[in-house]
Amino acid sequence: MTQAELEARILSGGRLTADEALFLYREAPTHWLGRMADHVRARNHPEGVVTYIIDRNVNYTNVCVARCNFCAFYRPVGDADGYVLGFDEIFRKIDETIAVGGVQLLLQGGHNPDLPLQWYEDLFRAVKERYPDFKLHALSPPEVIHLSRMSRLPVSEVVQRLIAAGLDSIPGGGAEILVDRVRKLLNCYGKASADEWLDVMRHAHHAGLRTTATMMYGTVETVEERIEHMLRLRDLQDETGGFTAFITWSYQPEHTERGGREATGIEYLRTLALARLVLDNFDNLQASWVTQGGKVGQLSLAFGANDMGSVMIEENVVRAAGASYCMDEVEIVRNVEDAGYVAKRRNMHYDILGDPIFRLREVPRMLELATARRDGDASVPVELLNYPARSASGKRLRQQ
Ligand code: SF4
Repeated sequence: MTQAELEARILSGGRLTADEALFLYREAPTHWLGRMADHVRARNHPEGVVTYIIDRNVNYTNVCVARCNFCAFYRPVGDADGYVLGFDEIFRKIDETIAVGGVQLLLQGGHNPDLPLQWYEDLFRAVKERYPDFKLHALSPPEVIHLSRMSRLPVSEVVQRLIAAGLDSIPGGGAEILVDRVRKLLNCYGKASADEWLDVMRHAHHAGLRTTATMMYGTVETVEERIEHMLRLRDLQDETGGFTAFITWSYQPEHTERGGREATGIEYLRTLALARLVLDNFDNLQASWVTQGGKVGQLSLAFGANDMGSVMIEENVVRAAGASYCMDEVEIVRNVEDAGYVAKRRNMHYDILGDPIFRLREVPRMLELATARRDGDASVPVELLNYPARSASGKRLRQQ
């Protein structure tokens, strides 16, 4: 195969094999990868629109038994810095999100053994009762598996119960690299094997939910394994069509057990462009400016991305690993328009909601990211007493 033959294939809408993708990643110049990815992006999105969503990234607990060695966010059970947000705290965050034009929560957290399925169901129902139109994009596949194991119910039943309680869609977190050799080295095989992660998404898609897919690269995986990850997603997308978007970002090493170095900006842009070429059945690719910064985030729009992801109101996970880039809606729109595109708000389904909200009404600027909780706040939500604890420290807490 030659680069020219593959260029002809890409321009005519043909599909790449794993070997061809590897050849391109290894051999093709970066500007060529960008040009090809931009061509595919423009074919899928000829109207020249770049979208974004106003939502809030809320991490309901940082207590986690999974202990992935690339994670700087979690705290072990019983740790003094462990927290669980109260329903009232979550309602306040939703109020603040709605005030700046937000339409959903991206709700994810640790695998906390003291939060049973009922806690999630009660939370979702309470949110939907107060905010019927507000969306819950919640619980990545490993969290669903954690609930399935704790409640001894099949994944399909957990998904159905969460939908009945108000779940609208599932974020693609926890995928890391969908190759079990890598997952074992990252200590995340126990929380979900590659097959288990994909199976949750399959169940979710069959149950009518749309989901996203992610890839965190730059730890121990080879380029071949990144491509295997993409092909596994492509296969499931062929089967179900349930993924709305793909998001990739580089491992953030600070304060993690694993340590190491972060991949460079060029590696990010090459990986993103390759994903646009391999994932020919994904409509949308997001720019991960949260990990790469605004400038590389903007450049992503020339390397296959057609979406700027979320306006960040709150962020805890990436910040714990040393990156805390902040762009509010004004800044995102400035970056999109400066790159020559029209900026539009969207929902999780990528339906266009309208022009930037700050052009329609006055909204407060958000120049600093909120956190899950103020530093030093160790309060315990009262409603936790309603749920049985499994850990020794959780049981002690309920007896106080
Ligand atoms: S990545 Fe998620 S599952 Fe893994 S330790 Fe961190 S919070 Fe827990």
